[in-house]
Amino acid sequence: MSSIRHWRLWRHRRRTDRQLAWRPARWSLWSAPRVVVGYVLVVDLAAVAVLISTSRLVGVHPRDWAWLAVLAAGSALHIEGARGIERLREIAAEGVPYVNLKGMWTFAGVLVLPPTLAGLLIALTYTHSWFRLRRVTPHRWIFSAATIVLAGAAAGVCLVAIAPANYPGYPGGYLGLVAVTVAGLAYWFANYALVVGAVLLSNPEANARAALGRLSDQTIVAGSLGLGVAAASLLLHDPWFVVVLLLTILGLHRALLVGQFQTAARTDPQTGLANSVFWHEMARKELARAERTKAPLGIVFLDLDHFKSVNDTYGHPAGDQVLKAIANALRRELRTDDLVGRFGGEEFAVLLPGTGPADTTATGERLRQRIETLRVQLSTSTGEVRLSDLTCSVGAATYPASGTTLEQLILAADTATYTAKNAGRNRVVTAPDQSPDSPHAA
Ligand code: GH3
Ligand code: MG
Ligand code: MG
Repeated sequence: MSSIRHWRLWRHRRRTDRQLAWRPARWSLWSAPRVVVGYVLVVDLAAVAVLISTSRLVGVHPRDWAWLAVLAAGSALHIEGARGIERLREIAAEGVPYVNLKGMWTFAGVLVLPPTLAGLLIALTYTHSWFRLRRVTPHRWIFSAATIVLAGAAAGVCLVAIAPANYPGYPGGYLGLVAVTVAGLAYWFANYALVVGAVLLSNPEANARAALGRLSDQTIVAGSLGLGVAAASLLLHDPWFVVVLLLTILGLHRALLVGQFQTAARTDPQTGLANSVFWHEMARKELARAERTKAPLGIVFLDLDHFKSVNDTYGHPAGDQVLKAIANALRRELRTDDLVGRFGGEEFAVLLPGTGPADTTATGERLRQRIETLRVQLSTSTGEVRLSDLTCSVGAATYPASGTTLEQLILAADTATYTAKNAGRNRVVTAPDQSPDSPHAA
């Protein structure tokens, strides 16, 4: 597979996404289950209803337009300044809700702007990031913006309930602190619940914990809300200092880039799994530790069966979606100490520290069954397809029974995988016991 072809496919997808934006009738949303379509439409329409019904409630002053301009400019500079980093983060976040810091500007707008201008700010920042960061399908993008509008409305209701005289805006002192804290919690909860609801409805395969995303991501969301409060307070008291806040955030964000690159160097960008180089590095370290501590170490190889036919039937991009779904399924099926790597193509390797022969084979069998029962929803050029007949051939090897060096162990697992292929596929084969006291020793 040449990189030129990858590039062409990518270009093609970007163009189609953009064209699709103007052809709602062809959105893949309509082929989703009816409950998903209903949910998405209710959320979208509720957001429109909120925008219309609040438009006359609060008057707009010239100063509000100036604040809108400051927040929109802050958001635009933030998106541009952090674009490269966000692309990397987005790839690494494949399969879980993707979060970032730039939501701070929207939340600041929700705190200080009349609802109409806050809605306008949301529309501006979403349009900008859609063009510059990620081109998700248009209906998902509209849905995300709608959840933010509804979250903003929830926050607005809290502000009005606690300090009606100061709305839009909030008072100083402890009452202001209470108002923004409650508003922040309402904003976070409304947005989170709406998004998790959509993930669960559209992907019943995902377990609830995976749909909830990572705790560290929610810390980032909390951070963006905190920064939003900081931006709003500066705006109320000393708007010029918003510049200091923006530059500080971009500086810190860039500093985090070092960490992002470390992760990128270890990660297969397509699936978010460990890449082959990092997997080998970790395998060597784990083997050294196993030797030192006299503990066993399990290795499981997986090669998907007849994967070429998935590409041939549904197209290469659909094959890529299947690989991602399989990567996520494997990751969820394993302990945090285990390491799944992608050995290029459709071959995966799992490192199982402290795992002896029986448990390694049992884990291989569990992974095989997981893939056999996996259902993958695919968006192909001809519509949505539910793929269900995936299988894989698995080879299991363990230190010290199957070999004592990494090369021996990898060869043993690889040979076992091919034995499984030749024996009819969709099965687990354990490498023979080579230890001196084994009756099977060579
Ligand atoms: P089997 O393993 O059962 O013998 O058959 P197979 O069709 O899976 O054959 P093999 O493992 O030899 O070939 C791997 C195929 O996987 C070739 C290629 O079409 C596909 N493939 C490899 N990498 C990628 C990828 O990144 N994306 C997609 N979509 N397909 C890939
Ligand atoms: Mg292969
Ligand atoms: Mg294969």
